[in-house]
Amino acid sequence: MMKKSFLCFTTVFAVVNVFAQSTAYWQQKADYKMDVTMDMKNYQYHGKQELEYTNNSPDTLKRVFYHLYPNAFQPGSEMDARLHSIKDPDARMVSKITLDGKEVKESRIQNLKPEEMGYLKIANFKQEDVAVDTKTVGTILEVTLAKPILPNAKTTLTLDFDGQVPVQIRRSGRNNAEGVALSMTQWYPKIAEFDFEGWHADPYVAREFHGVWGNFDVKITIDKDYVLGGSGYLQNPNEIGHGYQDAGLDVVYPKKAKMLTWHFIAPMVHDFAWAADKNYLHDVVKGPNHVDLHFLYKNNPKTIANWKQVEPLMVKVMDFYNHTIGNYPYKQYSFIQGGDGGMEYAMCALILGEGTLEGILGTATHELGHSWFQHVLASNESKHPWMDEGFTTYVEDLAMNELAVKKEQNPFKWNYLAYYNLVESGKEQPQTTHSDRYDENRSYSISSYVKGSIFLSQLGYLIGQENLAKTLKRYYNDFKFKHPTPNDIKRSAERVSGAELDWYLIDWTQTTNTIDYGIMAVKNNGETAAVTLERIGRIPMPIDLKVEYVDGTVESFYIPLRMMYFEKENPNPEMKRTVLNDWAWANSKYEFTISKSKNSIKKITIDPSGLMADVKLDNNSFEVK
Ligand SMILES: [Zn+2]
Repeated sequence: MMKKSFLCFTTVFAVVNVFAQSTAYWQQKADYKMDVTMDMKNYQYHGKQELEYTNNSPDTLKRVFYHLYPNAFQPGSEMDARLHSIKDPDARMVSKITLDGKEVKESRIQNLKPEEMGYLKIANFKQEDVAVDTKTVGTILEVTLAKPILPNAKTTLTLDFDGQVPVQIRRSGRNNAEGVALSMTQWYPKIAEFDFEGWHADPYVAREFHGVWGNFDVKITIDKDYVLGGSGYLQNPNEIGHGYQDAGLDVVYPKKAKMLTWHFIAPMVHDFAWAADKNYLHDVVKGPNHVDLHFLYKNNPKTIANWKQVEPLMVKVMDFYNHTIGNYPYKQYSFIQGGDGGMEYAMCALILGEGTLEGILGTATHELGHSWFQHVLASNESKHPWMDEGFTTYVEDLAMNELAVKKEQNPFKWNYLAYYNLVESGKEQPQTTHSDRYDENRSYSISSYVKGSIFLSQLGYLIGQENLAKTLKRYYNDFKFKHPTPNDIKRSAERVSGAELDWYLIDWTQTTNTIDYGIMAVKNNGETAAVTLERIGRIPMPIDLKVEYVDGTVESFYIPLRMMYFEKENPNPEMKRTVLNDWAWANSKYEFTISKSKNSIKKITIDPSGLMADVKLDNNSFEVK
């Protein structure tokens, strides 16, 4: 049995292994050229798109899929239907109304009028100048190609698109709660990802994405008063001005020009987002490694001071992430007020702009962290949101603790409490659940952000903090721009530490099994004490024990887990540690001897670090009375 499952894992791994034959891993490429004009009277836009698509897969592709995300913001869409059926809809996406004296939540999408909803209509679709049949299925465009794309071949796909920016419901939209005119995210026809698992033509129901890397060349024509921020480097800054021009240059616009055409190039990104407003202030701050950090926020006297305070802190946070994970690979990053929580995109994030300094700081720190996990590593977020939201939450908590005046011993303790809470509710679903298909938003959030973050903080308990720090760096270095899978983070940790961790990946991410260890008994055994421990939960763990004696001295004991074939370094070298015999999973009980009498022991504690997610803490310590 063991051998069989090991074989199966190596097969999956071979596909993405950077150390395997260079032909084993492949990814598609999508290079976009887009030219779009915004009509700010009716929030409609018209564009042309040319996509050079390279099929690096071993398959011959007879059809391709595009995302038409704006179609989600229409009455009767899947996103609308989900708001009706889910028990805890996102508060931003519903309005509270009174019906028969009872307060009920109503989908805001359901009430959008034709001129308020979002859409993306495709016309004139051609493959190398040959007209091609397309079919719009909700938020997906299904394209039956005129000519199949052979392995290692390219094709050019062109289309015209007509879009309408919806009244802001979530993420994308116009005139949102903080008065930002345009949040242009998920706004253009975007080819779906095809990888070793096949097509990922996920409908836009709620969240999280998977995309194809490529180069974007985007021209946006809009009334000249609007200030834009977004993905990509502005190619014509001295024609545009608005804070992008060379220092000291006074930009003179052509006399009769009402519109400006902004030309952006974004290399090696898997998405392109932008936002625009007439009242954006625009600051540029030099970040680490000469990266320009742009800040675009509303000229609102209530919030300017907060943004100014956040600017130098984001330089520190970027530097911290560079050192903790690896260098940010682009030369620009923009924090843009979008007024709708926070959402990460390529080389930028849209974040709320009003509210407290802590709110803006926390959101900016979180969204910046996504640049590493969502954008550069870019695991499939629909399938493995914990690898993106969870790992981002982990580095965010580290960074916030780094910035804090008073440092926490365990900056992750709130994550453990939230996870215990979900377990207790009985509503936990395994992390293999597709991000759109959790029963409730709350179980999605805790599973992805919190349990995903604990995957790493608990990994530190398993292999030690130094190995964990090296694992993050190795994972980034080995899998950047390669869409890593869950097995890849496990392999990075194994390569760094030498520990076997398959059991951890399976139990933690594919099941709702929990950890519960207890101290059953401490008995006198002549001049020594016999301690009996019990594994009550399904997940096995190595055990750190701290023993406090009546005379004020302390010592620690470490019980390796047999199936890890590994001995962790002493996490507290200042404390004497005894390494005991390993604990095999099949034994539910474990006994060991302390060379002092029971009466000399004051207290025994399992895992004093609090990094092992033991769901029942009351049986983790034993006080001798
Ligand atoms: Zn996030």
